Amino acid sequence: METELFIGGKWVPASSGNRFDVLDPATGDVIASVADGGESDAIAAVDAAAEAGPAWAATPPRVRGEALRKAWELMTERADELAKLISLENGKALVDAKGEVTYAAEFFRWFAEEAVRGEGQFATAPSGANRILVTRQPVGVCVLVTPWNFPAAMATRKIGPALAAGCTVVLKPASDTPLTALAMAAILAEAGVPFGVVNVLPSRSSGKVVGRMLKDARVRKLSFTGSTEVGRILLAQAAENVVNTSMELGGNAPFLVFADADLDAAIEGAMIAKMRNGGEACTAANRFYVEASIADEFSRRLAARMSAMRVGPGTDESTQVGPLVNEDTVAKVDSLVRDAVEAGAKAETGGSRPSGAGFYYPPTVLTGVAPDAAILREEIFGPVAPIVTFTGEDEAVRLANDTEYGLVAYVYTGDLARGLRVSEAIEAGMVGLNRGLVSDPAAPFGGVKQSGIGREGGHEGLLEYLESKYIAVNW
Ligand code: ADP
Repeated sequence: METELFIGGKWVPASSGNRFDVLDPATGDVIASVADGGESDAIAAVDAAAEAGPAWAATPPRVRGEALRKAWELMTERADELAKLISLENGKALVDAKGEVTYAAEFFRWFAEEAVRGEGQFATAPSGANRILVTRQPVGVCVLVTPWNFPAAMATRKIGPALAAGCTVVLKPASDTPLTALAMAAILAEAGVPFGVVNVLPSRSSGKVVGRMLKDARVRKLSFTGSTEVGRILLAQAAENVVNTSMELGGNAPFLVFADADLDAAIEGAMIAKMRNGGEACTAANRFYVEASIADEFSRRLAARMSAMRVGPGTDESTQVGPLVNEDTVAKVDSLVRDAVEAGAKAETGGSRPSGAGFYYPPTVLTGVAPDAAILREEIFGPVAPIVTFTGEDEAVRLANDTEYGLVAYVYTGDLARGLRVSEAIEAGMVGLNRGLVSDPAAPFGGVKQSGIGREGGHEGLLEYLESKYIAVNW
């Protein structure tokens, strides 16, 4: 297991010599000590990325794509071992970790294919005086900042398109989960990505190192996934040097179930939308709005499914719900549930934090949640499903849109015309229509409102790392 910084193709200790501990969320025990990058290490990483930039940009797209394709193969071959590592440092159930490895690797395969789809434009100017030639060039050195909830996929979703486009990168992984990011660096190096193209900088002083890099004029892009709160700070810092930004921020996904929905499918979708990754996803269903006439049945059936889930250490094969990642996360979930219950909500299952070691919270279903409860406004990031009833389509859309977030929404209805109408009316970058999972490397993932700027995945994901260069030509 690699535990040093990865800069310019070398594994190096932090220049300060400092290290920090990574914990096993199932026990709270230390599992590794990782080099703690500081500001001078951050500059060394930008140096390496800047130096490697021109040669990588000039590398044929096919060659860049083949390195990514090789990285996909290596991840696929080592899926079990990577899943264990993810589960160990993040806490998620192995079944979720395996799903993440497949999803994460797929970004490398998808962008291996996108690398050779460099497109341009050629036209005659309306005046007829000249020709318009548009080509695309890599943005340059990118700083990538990723969260702990998908330690592999959030990294590959940024590294894949950046490398395909011809950019070089410095990745700053979340300090709770740096080991997976370091494993990704090793795989990319083995896949033939040249030294300096990918640099990984674990750090416990995220604010300082990212802030320092954004001040460096050689850094031309920031791609961030994390909370809206931190995203706002980084957008302000990026403004100083007018750095290109892609921001995947928080979500507050509504899950709408109309009375005409196939209830079996809605329950199945709810389980995925809520419980994938133990609820620790920005796409997680955060608010369930169920048409009043079917609300009791939906709540009862969802509570039965949730209470039957096996909770335990993520690394145990039979576990369906692992612990949450850390103490702060479980304390936040606990306080949101307590507030809701104090205001009159009822826990149909779960609802209180168990005693004992580890950051566990049980699958929980709340009914009778007050419309102004904090749990409906804030990202829960845990296995809790608050249910609210509605009457009619207009009210459903109004409730769904009553948030500053706009990442994803889920809609279940047997009437496809209504489904499409509601999907169009909902202010979100993505909608799952009769489907509880939207994430797909081949599709543009991203939000509107305070959920972010830009898209990851699909063809749009590549364009985020390219600038259009327009050449006006006379001949
Ligand atoms: P989460 O806790 O969901 O991962 P955060 O927004 O707190 O969301 O963190 C996302 C990423 O941003 C992590 O890599 C974290 O270390 C980093 N981060 C947190 N605060 C800052 C900051 N002030 N400046 C730069 N990066 C930060």
